[in-house]
Order: sequence, then C-alpha cells, then structure tokens
Amino acid sequence: MFVLVQVQLLFQPEHGVRPNLKEVILKILVINSGSSSLKYQLFDQDSLEVVDKGLVEKIGLADSFLKRGIGDNERELKLPLPDHFAAIQAVLDNLLDPANGLISSLDDIAAIGHRVVHGGEYFSASAVINDEVIRCIEECIPLAPLHNPPALTGIHACSQLIPNTVQVAVFDTSFHQSMAPVSYLYPLPYELYSTLKLRRYGFHGTSHRYVSQRAAEFLGKPAADLKLITCHIGNGCSVAAVKGGKSVDTSMGLTPLEGMMMGTRCGSIDPAIINFLMRSLSISSDEVDNLMNKKSGLLGISGISNDLRDVIAAADDGNERSQLAMEMYALSAKRIIGQYFFELDGADAVVMTAGVGENSHELRGMIFDGLAPLGLKLDAELNLKRGGERYISTDDSPVKLLVIPTNEELMIVKDVISLL
Ligand code: AMP
Repeated sequence: MFVLVQVQLLFQPEHGVRPNLKEVILKILVINSGSSSLKYQLFDQDSLEVVDKGLVEKIGLADSFLKRGIGDNERELKLPLPDHFAAIQAVLDNLLDPANGLISSLDDIAAIGHRVVHGGEYFSASAVINDEVIRCIEECIPLAPLHNPPALTGIHACSQLIPNTVQVAVFDTSFHQSMAPVSYLYPLPYELYSTLKLRRYGFHGTSHRYVSQRAAEFLGKPAADLKLITCHIGNGCSVAAVKGGKSVDTSMGLTPLEGMMMGTRCGSIDPAIINFLMRSLSISSDEVDNLMNKKSGLLGISGISNDLRDVIAAADDGNERSQLAMEMYALSAKRIIGQYFFELDGADAVVMTAGVGENSHELRGMIFDGLAPLGLKLDAELNLKRGGERYISTDDSPVKLLVIPTNEELMIVKDVISLL
C-alpha cells in the first residue's frame, strides 16, 4: 500500500493557509505536452482513480481552449493561452477552483509525471527530474525535434509554478533499451552509430510495457516465463517482441516512421524511394518527410481518411481503394507478428491494444485470418465481443490471442509512485 494520507502541520504562505491536522489524499498529475497541445490527468494516489482530466489545444493561437472534466462535468473554456506556461497555469487554476473540489492547495499534488518521447540511450527507466535529466532530454532533441521541446517546456513551466513538487520523466523509448545491438543496429557504417547514435530506439514503450505486464497478470503467469507479441495499433502503430518482461525487438526505429503502415505514416518502405521522389518530383527531403509522415498510410492509399472507421465505412460502400488500404494495413501487421513469432521461437500470446487493436474486430479478423495452422486460433464469436481485458482466441489455441486496453497514464502514475 502507498502512503494514503499526509498530515499537514505546516503553515505554507506561498500556497495559502493549510488547516492543521487535515487529512489530505494526495494527487498525482500526469502531463503529456505536445507542440501546440497539452493533455493532463489527475490521479488519486490512493485509489489510482482518475479524478480529473483535460486537454488544452491550440496553445499559442487566438482560439486556444481548455476542455476538462469527466462525464457530465465536462466543460470547455475558451482562454487566451500564449504558451505552455499559460496552459499549465490554466490547468492548475482549474484544479484549484473550489467549485471543482479537486485540490485545496498545490501541495495536494504529491508529484507530476511527464510523458517524454525520447530518452535516447540515457534512460532505460523513468527518472526523477533534475538538472542532469533535463540536460539529457535536451541532448535527445535532434532525435525528436517535434516532441522533446514541448515536454521540456512543460517541465520548466511546472518547475516555476510548483517549484517544490517532485517531477518524473517517463520515456516512450526506455522500455526498448533492453534490445540487443543485433536488433537495434541498422546495417549502415558502424561509425554512424558511434558518432550520431543512429540506431533503432522504438516508441510506444509505456504502452507495450503496460499491456505486457497486464497480459502476464491476465494469463496468471510470471512475466519472466512469457514470450509475448504486443501490437499497439492505433493512428500510430508499433509491434514489440517481449521476452521475460523485456522488449527484445520493436517495429519503430530511429523515428516513429518505421515499421507498420499507420494512419498517415507509410511505415517501412524501400529507402531508395526518398531519392527517387526528390528527383522525380523535384521536392526537398523535408517535403518527402512530410509526405511519408502525414499523407501516406491509410489516408494515402484510401484517399478517404486516416481514421479506420471512415475507411471501413467507405470500403463497405464499395470504395476499392479503402478496401485495399485495410488489406495492406492488416498485412503489414501480420508480417511483423510473423517476424517476431520466428524471432522469439514461438510465442505464448499475441496482445492487441490501442484504438484499432482494442476496437476493430474487422482488422483483428483480417490479421489473424489463416494463422490457425501456426497455432494462432481466433475465436470468431469472442472477437466480436466488446469489453475490457479478454481472450479472443479459442480455448484450444496454443498461442493465446488477447485484447488488453492500454493505459499509458496509469503506467506513468505507477512509475511516479515507485520513484517517490
Ligand atoms: P488511437 O491512436 O489509439 O487513438 O487509435 C485511433 C484509431 O482507432 C483510429 O484509426 C480509429 O478509427 C480507430 N478506432 C477507434 N475505435 C474504432 C472502432 N470501433 N472500430 C474501428 N476503428 C476504431
């Protein structure tokens, strides 16, 4: 059990007068800062329940807003938020608003967990933020130029606004730091690795770690004894081979562009295509990068949408390119699952998670179609059912097929608590 209550005896002028001997259930704030957006969730440290959550969008634009609250309490507030500092200030003001009854003082926030995309080779686990950790996150900016700077802005804003509160960084890359060189190196000149740290890092690590731990509990076996293939299939997609609780391979690489076909990303393609496009279309490398990241995948093939629901609806209406997009998407997942099945010398279970993995029986059906002779037997009826953690394989399937809803924020909170 964690420490549930804190006896507040102190007079804290900077945060107002605290009642003596008041029992306070502490909260943990999880922050996910994007370039122009910021998501947060406030957890009760005792029950690990989400007591508030919200989203700030269009930071820096005139029509920025904060949408917060759960269920019937959801509210949208139009606020001028010029930067992340203002956004975090607005979040804290709302948490403190007596009308919301969430916290009575900033001291009720025991700690803050930040999602940080890239920890490079510096972090194989989450870390309490200090100057050295900040320096390492800064050094990883060239590897994640769009993601690490807003995370740092969020961290600095919290340091100014709640200076005495412990902050923890939880990295998308750290779970995959257990990969061996044979998996993480590209067959390029080795010096590019030594000088530029050019290698595969992998992403969605918090999700793969969470679902692999939950899968072990669901199967009632120690993670150390299991070989799992975890499939995070949403707008972004990655697959991981997890052996004994450790990631041994994953489909995303130096950047989150490698691997499976995704909503708007092409995934792995012949690298010579980049030069071909630059020459044929007289476009810059940045334009090719944009084309591969934002105009490809389900959107590029279907011409309809990056949202699988729209693509399925169009395919049902006879749109052939949407049908083709779905088939290519499913095949790209099947290829990587097959690759890891061989790499792991078989698997105990394949786990589906994220928007598509959790919700689309159509895609799951296409991915596992024809795999029964290899021991992956999808149960057509179970596959149609909805719900939380569940089997979708037949009772006699040698390889279990599972759906485990991901919860990256909960994983972040658990890391924060274990580091506190
Ligand atoms: P994520 O990035 O994890 O939020 O996943 C987003 C993707 O999940 C989008 O492509 C959605 O279309 C897809 N998705 C969510 N719910 C469903 C559903 N019920 N059926 C099919 N796809 C879904």
